[in-house]
Amino acid sequence: MQETSVITLKESALINNIQFLKKKLGKHVKISSVVKANAYGHGIEQMVPMLEKAGINHFSVFNFDEAQRVCSSLTKKSTVVIMGYISKEHLREAIDKNFEFFVFNLGRLEVALEEARNLGKPAKIHLEVETGMNRTGLNMSELIEAIDVIKMQPEHFQVRGFCTHLAGAESVSNHVRIQKQMKRYRQMSAILEKNDITPRYRHVANSAAAFVYPAARLDLVRIGIMQYGFWSSAETFIHFINHKKNHTDPLHRILGWESKVMSIKLIKTGEFVGYGNHFLAQQDTLTALVPVGYATGYSRSLSNKGRVLIRGRSCNVIGVVNMNMVVVDISAIPEAKIGDQVVIIGRQGDAEINVSAFSDISNALNYEVLSRLPLNIERRVIPAE
Ligand SMILES: *Cc1c(COP(=O)(O)O)cnc(C)c1O
Repeated sequence: MQETSVITLKESALINNIQFLKKKLGKHVKISSVVKANAYGHGIEQMVPMLEKAGINHFSVFNFDEAQRVCSSLTKKSTVVIMGYISKEHLREAIDKNFEFFVFNLGRLEVALEEARNLGKPAKIHLEVETGMNRTGLNMSELIEAIDVIKMQPEHFQVRGFCTHLAGAESVSNHVRIQKQMKRYRQMSAILEKNDITPRYRHVANSAAAFVYPAARLDLVRIGIMQYGFWSSAETFIHFINHKKNHTDPLHRILGWESKVMSIKLIKTGEFVGYGNHFLAQQDTLTALVPVGYATGYSRSLSNKGRVLIRGRSCNVIGVVNMNMVVVDISAIPEAKIGDQVVIIGRQGDAEINVSAFSDISNALNYEVLSRLPLNIERRVIPAE
């Protein structure tokens, strides 16, 4: 474990977000909590028990390994769905462990059939159809073949879901494409129905689609980014807030990231700081060294641009971000001491650095900044009262 910084997780914020989502989506729409990519960097092992406590009992991940991690973090009998990769070797284990999984091509359906037969246990599948994202999913003729396979050996399958993924509901520029996808989905769904296959859940929506296109909620929504307290895009937030009197953000951020001042140094006018000549002190400059760098999650693209909070004040990163360290300007805080808390993401006093500020500077998405937070930083839960 890295001990130079810690990621904090505010349980009260998570409870707030889940309550908000449940209220807005209504009790007839099931929420599947998307915890792929280490729960968007928050930590699967910490988030899953908190999510269960907050009333979630359905989880979606990308691959088999994540499913295993979710499974060993469960405190209840929740459902785990693998939306993406499972190696051929792990498919049997996936069935054996009661994991549900997407079937997005006929090859996977064949392997699932074979393993289900070997195990004497049905494969719990979600048929994923291609509706226009052109990434994964069965096209119309493949769907018809899949239906034949399932109807010939119904004892080996439980059709838990019928789904697709909408391409870019977070931007209005995709509106026409999404309408086409919905239409295609309904056509394919009708074919399933005609063949008397009734999936437990029909689902197409991620966070953005669930809020921008209420008709896309169907039986279940796959909510990732919003449960962590972020809107999918500025546009999605504006869409939501537009007709409301109250313009405060109903979502709360869960994650904070902090470190400590490692050392302090006064740089004389005319001296360069760090490697090369990226920063020249124009005046005497008091600097603090913070022990996070690009090897520990602080992107090199924040060189000379990033900010951190010390004693409630914003301090600029000066020079290039090193592998394990970054230098910040603390000239305005002469009282700073070694060991002072450094906030990289989150609040300190009245000041705040949020992930979006962080990502604006480095031109990354919230999604990217979060999911790239290293696994080996300690996640510390701040329990709700
Ligand atoms: C990641 C993912 C989601 C969740 O998306 P958010 O925008 O984070 O809500 C939903 N569905 C699929 C298939 C995904 O891969």
